[in-house]
Amino acid sequence: MPRRGAPLPVLGRDVTVPLVTGGEVTYAALDYAASAPALQRVWDDVAAYAPYYGSVHRGAGYLSQLSTDLFESSRATVHAFLDCREDDQVVFTRSTTDSLNLLAGALPDGCEVFVFETEHHASLLPWTNARVTYLDAPRTPQQAVRTLESALAGRDLSVPALVCVTGASNVTGELWPVRELAAASHAHGARIVLDAAQLVPHHPVSVRDLDVDWVAFSGHKLYAPFGSGVLAGRTDWLRDAEPYLAGGGASRTVARRADGGVDVEWHTSAARHEAGSPNVIGVYAIASACRALTEAGFDALVDRERHLVEKVLTGLAEVPGVRVLSLFGGDTPARSEGDTRARAAAGTAGRVGVVSFVVDGWNSSHLAAALSAEYGIGVRDGLFCAHPLVRTLLGGDPGQPGECGAPEAVPGERGEAAAPAAEGAGR
Ligand code: PLP
Repeated sequence: MPRRGAPLPVLGRDVTVPLVTGGEVTYAALDYAASAPALQRVWDDVAAYAPYYGSVHRGAGYLSQLSTDLFESSRATVHAFLDCREDDQVVFTRSTTDSLNLLAGALPDGCEVFVFETEHHASLLPWTNARVTYLDAPRTPQQAVRTLESALAGRDLSVPALVCVTGASNVTGELWPVRELAAASHAHGARIVLDAAQLVPHHPVSVRDLDVDWVAFSGHKLYAPFGSGVLAGRTDWLRDAEPYLAGGGASRTVARRADGGVDVEWHTSAARHEAGSPNVIGVYAIASACRALTEAGFDALVDRERHLVEKVLTGLAEVPGVRVLSLFGGDTPARSEGDTRARAAAGTAGRVGVVSFVVDGWNSSHLAAALSAEYGIGVRDGLFCAHPLVRTLLGGDPGQPGECGAPEAVPGERGEAAAPAAEGAGR
């Protein structure tokens, strides 16, 4: 067990990589915001369990029962980790993107959706069956709340509405005023879902305290491996919706009708949206990561991360031509405790360990390639699946399409964008 406040051991920390200039260097992974390697503890837990895994909810044998118990106790662990309300449901998914698409498919008829244009595409794009209002990029947290309030003001309260907001930006690392946005949503009869993909690895998230209706996050950003995610929150919309996937596990009973068709009674629990054999290893890994972070203590993790971020910002401020990207204006390191307090009062201080920057005269994909090849530093470049946000931050359209996922453009043709440095909570 690591000391309280000590960096949590993660896999892949001591990988040596060759440099084009000759020699080799210990790889510095500064792209954990995209995917963080699993904690050693998570890997150990999974390895210890792997020989015993069996089918979940589908067998009477000992290993099936063990796996079913671990699967359901992982649900309870995540429920506690997020400080959910007692009757909230934890649905296991593949990722944040999957969770938000699940919720998008569960919107009541006629539901309106309100989303800031600055969101990650996972939050921006799934609402294809709803009338979506895209809100302009706010330049302060307070402006975000005002923008939402005026968008919601006067709306027809008989029409269901959902606000989708990120907790921490994957581009700027800045924290959004989630509690205030939740209060504004509820005051206007809307529900709110929190995209916590970048928040949960860095900050304690309390569903009760933030008073959000749902939270979505991904295991692979929480120091668990790829392939599992979570949608946690209110049961009603999910219970009333068609199952996300139709199939075994989601169905309670299936019977042939006299007319030749089939009658299906779907589960009303989380199982309704978890059809098919579940990713028990991935789910167990998420629960293990939740336990590891809780035991390490978020106070210590937040403190350490604040120190690392100040170090990065201070270092970058000394490099000529570097511009750190910020929506809310917290782009220079705090000079003193007083400065930190003043910024906190102004609402500009809060950020997680994600920093993006541009360098005058440099194409960012060339810069990222050079950092890797010449220094063994891994960063992400591009528009970070948040194209409208990065374009706003760059002060206009960079003139070229950005990339997200498998690139269609060859490196160097991806446009002027940013190279982020992400400091993981465990580093
Ligand atoms: N939301 C935010 C803020 C993110 O940073 C990401 C991933 O980068 C996502 C959503 C989507 O996560 P995933 O790719 O795991 O579905």
